[in-house]
Amino acid sequence: MNARELRTPLLAVRDLAVHFDAPHSASGVARAVDGVGFEVGEGEVLALFGESGSGKSVTARAILGLVERPGRLVAGSIRFAGRELVGLAESDYRRVRGREIALVFQDPAAALNPVLTLGEQLCEAPRAHLGLTAAAARERATALLGELGFDGDSGWLARFPHQLSGGQRQRAALAQALLCEPKLVLADEPTTALDPTLVATVVELLRRRASERGTGVLWITHDLRVARSIASRAVVLYAGRVVETGPLAELSRSPRHPYTRALFDARPSATRRGSPLLAPQGSAGDPSAWPSGCRFHPRCPFADAACAAIEPALARGVACHHPLAEAGR
Ligand code: SF4
Repeated sequence: MNARELRTPLLAVRDLAVHFDAPHSASGVARAVDGVGFEVGEGEVLALFGESGSGKSVTARAILGLVERPGRLVAGSIRFAGRELVGLAESDYRRVRGREIALVFQDPAAALNPVLTLGEQLCEAPRAHLGLTAAAARERATALLGELGFDGDSGWLARFPHQLSGGQRQRAALAQALLCEPKLVLADEPTTALDPTLVATVVELLRRRASERGTGVLWITHDLRVARSIASRAVVLYAGRVVETGPLAELSRSPRHPYTRALFDARPSATRRGSPLLAPQGSAGDPSAWPSGCRFHPRCPFADAACAAIEPALARGVACHHPLAEAGR
């Protein structure tokens, strides 16, 4: 962790809860995000891990004020650059979105308009938000596409999204997110459609933005291999709750929550040879009826009666009644 991270939490999420109406369930409510908290420092890349349905993407949408009915933010605080975002008027939120906080979608189709050329959609925000001339915006867009592995031919800006490959669309969507130099980038599985060389290009670009310009990055993923190459710290989500947090190298070497171990066991590790593998079986379950006690207990090989009855609090970075290292497992 560098000095910049220690000084300034660029983003501080506290006790965030986002629920969805679930009229066909007994409880009537799906608790997709249920008391989540973490911080991202200036110039820090924080990995937010979890399997599908853990609440990662809903958390990102909540930060951007994009939770829509039947969902609603029911509790918590989201402070960004010293300002509370919860309760912000939509007109003010529009100024934050794109200009100060950018979201890179997993699916570039969600970001790119199919009937506009790349030039039309990439240059619009820098002109509107930064007051650049059309020529300066095109120059900036062409340079950024170059950094992202597009060759120097400025003809890219005349193309429509359907004239690009999947990987090119994904990088164009990333360029669109970065063009206004946001303070914070929420990157939701941004490298899924890319081959390994281009993954390295994207990782290197975001790492440089973080270290040279102080950009904070929330790297939302289930891919530990890529996360290790970019993030310094990690937060692990399970069933809408934070179950473990800490330096990524430490979590990788010596995870304390059985679910974190299960995530890492999906990729064999030379440093933990000899530890029993904990491949996760089944799924986390239904957010309208999370299991009692520890939500991981139906899948946990170490569960006991206390685990099924009492929900463990997050203490010293882990939410588990029997953390692995302390229990000698
Ligand atoms: Fe497993 Fe119990 Fe820890 Fe939950 S609290 S992860 S069930 S040992």
